[in-house]
Amino acid sequence: VDFDDTPEEAEFRAHVRDWLSTNAPPFCADLPADHSGADYVACGRNWQKHKAQSGFASIGMPRVVGGRDASAMMEVIFGDEESRYGLPIGPFITIGTQLVAPTILAYGTPEQVNSTIHSTLFGDTLWCQLFSEPGAGSDLAGLRTKAERDGDGWIISGQKVWNSWAHVADWGILLARTDSEVAKHKGITYFLLDMRSAGIDVRRIRQISGESEFNEVFLTQVRIPDSCRLGAVGEGWKVAMTTLMNERITVGAESPHLPNVQSLIDLAAQRGSRSYRARIAQFAAQEQGMKYFRYRLLTQLSRGETPGAIAALGKLMYSKLLQDISATALDIGGLNALYPAENVTEFEKFQHGYFWGAAMRIAGGTDEILRNQLAERVLGLPGDFRVDKNIAFSAIASSG
Ligand SMILES: Cc1cc2nc3c(=O)[nH]c(=O)nc-3n(C[C@H](O)[C@H](O)[C@H](O)COP(=O)(O)OP(=O)(O)OC[C@H]3O[C@@H](n4cnc5c(N)ncnc54)[C@H](O)[C@@H]3O)c2cc1C
Repeated sequence: VDFDDTPEEAEFRAHVRDWLSTNAPPFCADLPADHSGADYVACGRNWQKHKAQSGFASIGMPRVVGGRDASAMMEVIFGDEESRYGLPIGPFITIGTQLVAPTILAYGTPEQVNSTIHSTLFGDTLWCQLFSEPGAGSDLAGLRTKAERDGDGWIISGQKVWNSWAHVADWGILLARTDSEVAKHKGITYFLLDMRSAGIDVRRIRQISGESEFNEVFLTQVRIPDSCRLGAVGEGWKVAMTTLMNERITVGAESPHLPNVQSLIDLAAQRGSRSYRARIAQFAAQEQGMKYFRYRLLTQLSRGETPGAIAALGKLMYSKLLQDISATALDIGGLNALYPAENVTEFEKFQHGYFWGAAMRIAGGTDEILRNQLAERVLGLPGDFRVDKNIAFSAIASSG
């Protein structure tokens, strides 16, 4: 990886800066305070559409589906510049643009690509991810939501949980078991689910922070046409890996709502907290390392290569660093950071970062699971015990 902008990238960055300086500010004004509400999401859709109309929606995607056909580095440059503004961007958009669209592009039929990707990039279709279940999170392949053949379609029954933004999503990506008589990873199929279908009950989960971004989703005899199956029957695990790999690469991109090392440096300087210098220097080194590691993954992607299990490292490092940066800021603030007497906003970002860091250490694969993957697939260490790996799912004791 070349760390400096090439002349072409520098020109693109200048163009993006110029475009954002006139186009972003109106979309940052008067945003609703509740970031999990429908009004905020509507602002996000408008910004996404505006970007798409100027060719900035998903820069790495092919032009024919609404992208710009540019390199992954150009995508990073746009994201870096965009993050300087307090714009209404969030997972309600990026689940679609960064997780779903690349998966459909890789596995979709021409009809699926044509009917979904353009509307996703233009903010007209929002997506949610219906993977986790009450008994299947880390052990995702143990999922029990069933899909049974019914003429030219499928009937789905089961329960999903922790589904971010399902309450505003138009469509969902769904994993369901189509065959219990083969090993657990082999009997899963991947579907695209219209969230307005009959039989779907989305129930919001109220978080301790007061926000409500997660949901439980109950599926009772929901019909999905076979044309909404993504990939072959029984190949859902392979398709899901593309989605999860993109999720792990996405985490760690700059966000205006989360603290970074610079915000900690500013705080420490303001408070004259010299005793934290060595710790902050270590965080700065980690942040740089992660940034370039992420560029390396993106470079691989832009060359058409798949980064593989090593992609887990970025998410593992980022979520821990986010918590460490936030914890150090709260340390610097002392009791004032916990119960701010006057200047509430100074520590709000770090309080949020501390809790969000904890969530990030679980979402899209927990720290422990990612460490297992790195140990086994990157370092070649002996595997975890997996007693249910090569037996039919129906023979696993609790699968009844
Ligand atoms: C912010 C956030 C957003 C999310 N969004 C979505 C979403 O949109 N869609 C969706 O489908 N899901 C979503 N999830 C769910 C997420 O994918 C799961 O929470 C995650 O995979 C962990 O599963 P679990 O909660 O069932 O924990 P469990 O799998 O029950 O794990 C409990 C603990 O046991 C540990 N553990 C489990 N197995 C092992 C092992 N083999 N070795 C060592 N330790 C182990 C785990 O590391 C963890 O500490 C989200 C979660 C969060 C936090």
